[in-house]
Amino acid sequence: MKSDELKLYTNCIPVKGYLRSVIQDIQRSSFSFVPNSLIDCISESKFVKKHEYVDEESFNNYREFLISEDYVFAWEMSLTERFPDYKAVFYQSYHIYSLHFIEVRELSIVKKMLLFIEQGLIVKHLVFVIEECRIELLEQLIDLLNNQLTHTSIESVQFRFKKDFGVQNYFLSKSNIDYRINLVEIVSLESKKRKKANCDHLQIHSINERNPKMVNNFLHYFESVQFHTYFNGKFFVNPQGILSHQPEEFNPKYSITNLKSKQDVLDLLQLESFNEFSKVRKEDTVICKSCELRHMCLDERLPKKNSTGDWYHIVECDYNPFIGKWKKESGYRTLEECGVYSNENGIIIDNVRISQINQELWKE
Ligand code: SF4
Repeated sequence: MKSDELKLYTNCIPVKGYLRSVIQDIQRSSFSFVPNSLIDCISESKFVKKHEYVDEESFNNYREFLISEDYVFAWEMSLTERFPDYKAVFYQSYHIYSLHFIEVRELSIVKKMLLFIEQGLIVKHLVFVIEECRIELLEQLIDLLNNQLTHTSIESVQFRFKKDFGVQNYFLSKSNIDYRINLVEIVSLESKKRKKANCDHLQIHSINERNPKMVNNFLHYFESVQFHTYFNGKFFVNPQGILSHQPEEFNPKYSITNLKSKQDVLDLLQLESFNEFSKVRKEDTVICKSCELRHMCLDERLPKKNSTGDWYHIVECDYNPFIGKWKKESGYRTLEECGVYSNENGIIIDNVRISQINQELWKE
């Protein structure tokens, strides 16, 4: 039955970008950068077939590479239907994936949301994004969480501090913290200053990581096929207790004071306007649709619509997919330096300029 036809394993997904592509193994959480011409040698049914513009030697090299990386197996092409593709289904077993409190000035808002969670609102993660607050208030918040988390569906709690106003020392010395409170991120925390916390489960990190983060697994891939992987399932509460599906605009109409029960929150989540950004896939976003990392990307930037109706971002991502370089990497250029202009009026791509730059960057 077997032949020397090579077929990609179903869990190995080819993702084509502008300059290069990846083969993303969503089961083993690994990936390889490959030339676009290799992806052109993969048929719709995921068999490896020489493309007319690829020469024999390159094709043989591609085959060897795919075998050595264990991305392919030998199989009879006529029996391809025995290896169907995955169905692009993403199922969420929670109502809210992560609930973000932006600043905490007093605890009543947190208490009310915890009450809804106790009533059966399923929330997976809590995130507290704090610029500055009194350590006494933080202490009260930790006490509240220590007492209440046991009665909830919450799996983890994360703190993000925009500066260190003594919070590092506070968390390092604290010994009675619920195991679900497991991550503290502080902007500009220098690694040499990091010390071991009294609570073994608690990790204290610097936020200064590059943006976006990369996540490569089954769930993230299938979510990315249908949704924006950051905004899908996210919910934000501002210091005035206004709820929103995004962190930049809060409509007083959605004040927590108007919510009487868990059902009121669920009704809010069903509103079309509360799901606007969750449906903005990277495939539908200018620049990102040209990026080979689009199914691994966890991007916190809020998308905007340009005048042609496409989604775009005001702030540039740290990765430039037109030249395959990250910011701070040698040879990195901004989009504009490459002749790519994306703004509220649309997008212009100077392919000639990009090609010149890539010849210079990748000449070997
Ligand atoms: S361009 Fe940046 S934000 Fe867009 S998909 Fe690529 S890595 Fe993600």
